[in-house]
Amino acid sequence: MVSFRQSAAAEYETVIGLEVHVQLQTRSKMFCACGADYQTAPVNSRVCPVCLGLPGTLPVINRRAVEFTIMTGLALHCHIPEYSKFDRKNYPYPDLMKGYQISQFDLPLATGGYLEIEVEGQSKRIGVTRVHLEEDVAKLQHFPSPGGDGYSLVDVNRSGVPLLEVVGEPDLRSAEEARAYLVALHSIVQYLGVSTANMQDGSFRCDANVSIRPRGEARFGTRTEVKNMNSFRSVFMALNFEVERQRRVLEDGGRVVQETRGWVEERGVTVSQRSKEQAHDYRYFPEPDLPPLVISPKWVEELRRSLPELPAQRKTRLVQEYGIPEYDAGLLTGSKDLADYYENVVELRAAVSPATALAKQASNWMLGDLTRLMNLAGQDITQIKVTPAHLIELIGLIEAGSLSTTLAKTVLEEAFQTGQRPSDIVRDKGYTQISDSSVVEAAVAQAIEANPRAVADYRSGKETAARFLVGQVMKLTKGQAKPELVNELVKQRLSGGMEP
Ligand code: ADP
Ligand code: MG
Ligand code: ZN
Repeated sequence: MVSFRQSAAAEYETVIGLEVHVQLQTRSKMFCACGADYQTAPVNSRVCPVCLGLPGTLPVINRRAVEFTIMTGLALHCHIPEYSKFDRKNYPYPDLMKGYQISQFDLPLATGGYLEIEVEGQSKRIGVTRVHLEEDVAKLQHFPSPGGDGYSLVDVNRSGVPLLEVVGEPDLRSAEEARAYLVALHSIVQYLGVSTANMQDGSFRCDANVSIRPRGEARFGTRTEVKNMNSFRSVFMALNFEVERQRRVLEDGGRVVQETRGWVEERGVTVSQRSKEQAHDYRYFPEPDLPPLVISPKWVEELRRSLPELPAQRKTRLVQEYGIPEYDAGLLTGSKDLADYYENVVELRAAVSPATALAKQASNWMLGDLTRLMNLAGQDITQIKVTPAHLIELIGLIEAGSLSTTLAKTVLEEAFQTGQRPSDIVRDKGYTQISDSSVVEAAVAQAIEANPRAVADYRSGKETAARFLVGQVMKLTKGQAKPELVNELVKQRLSGGMEP
């Protein structure tokens, strides 16, 4: 790495490499029989001499955690070496019960893979350096006090929970690419079922290494490592902030210092935490209490065969099976739950008519109005009251001509709030579409009478005035008039030369 001085061109390229920690969803911890359910268990109730770090205890490797790591490696197209081992990473910190963490140093479980991302319609392979297995640390709770009698409490429940780390190559060239990589990786571990991958509670966390260099320069610039982001959005914002900060440093004739920086969400800035000089020397050495791991090719093949369908495969299948655009399929398969819901909708309907007939409409509703409602309510697809059967019913009502799209949006909103069936909402609220032309005609007449200005505009050649009048009629009929009919009648009346 080199320290670049001011570049006359002032055009820089961003270089990012991510280290992602994923908490594994095993029943027991990494090296002892304690439950790994630390999130819901009472404080300090999942503790034994091993994860408490008492002398004289011996760790035992959790086979399931090793399998989850190999599965993740395989999903990331990695090589699974036949020999692997655990190492001690030594550092003193109150959340580390033993004074060292059991991790993997030079012989990780998986190496040399890649992850495919798509940004602005371009797909790109991002190298995965390695996937290794380690243990999580205890949780500290700080109770500071200005008087100096502050204290901290330790919850050992999380100590020893299996943690997988995916180290990525510095192949990412923007915050957008970094976000796409994280989203794709997140989706893969969820599909594999190896983690809840919840970012808010820290089950999926990312350290972002970032540097910039003059465009065209082959060597990398000095990097900083940013921590403390707990959403895709914060990673994105932290990276953009950091790139901009480094650019200013260089443009002011300074040098970027290699250091760890923390993202401060409330202020939208990164702040220095520790420099390279303060970095620990971990004094790694092979863990003497554990045997090396021998991974037989047969075991790897079994695990490979057990892999579920992954997001990329599912995307291809949705396009082929239902004829929806790649773009839609990409968004739908980004989350396993969303894709499951979508397939439920389409398959429910397949019982009566070909699934493809409504596949695109179902996708439109899910990615459009339903997503908007979920975002507003802060709910995900597993939490909502609208069921796949409700959505099918809604689409059926539109197809049957009983509901206009406008009205259907209102019905969906009410179904979202109340959990009622769309057909019940339509019946209770009298939301049926008006296709009786005499009723619509009366509303058209009323709209035209009330808006002589628009009529005059239209007759003097302003075509858009007709659209305004259509809108007025829809308003008068509370959105219930059949839009095609309104259009036709408004045009007829305007061009009929009749005086309002
Ligand atoms: P460490 O273990 O000290 O953090 P590594 O060499 O393992 O260091 O690198 C960690 C991460 O930093 C990797 O994801 C890698 O892609 C990324 N990285 C390395 N050099 C750079 C750089 N110059 N700019 C951006 N990211 C980098
Ligand atoms: Mg690092
Ligand atoms: Zn234990």
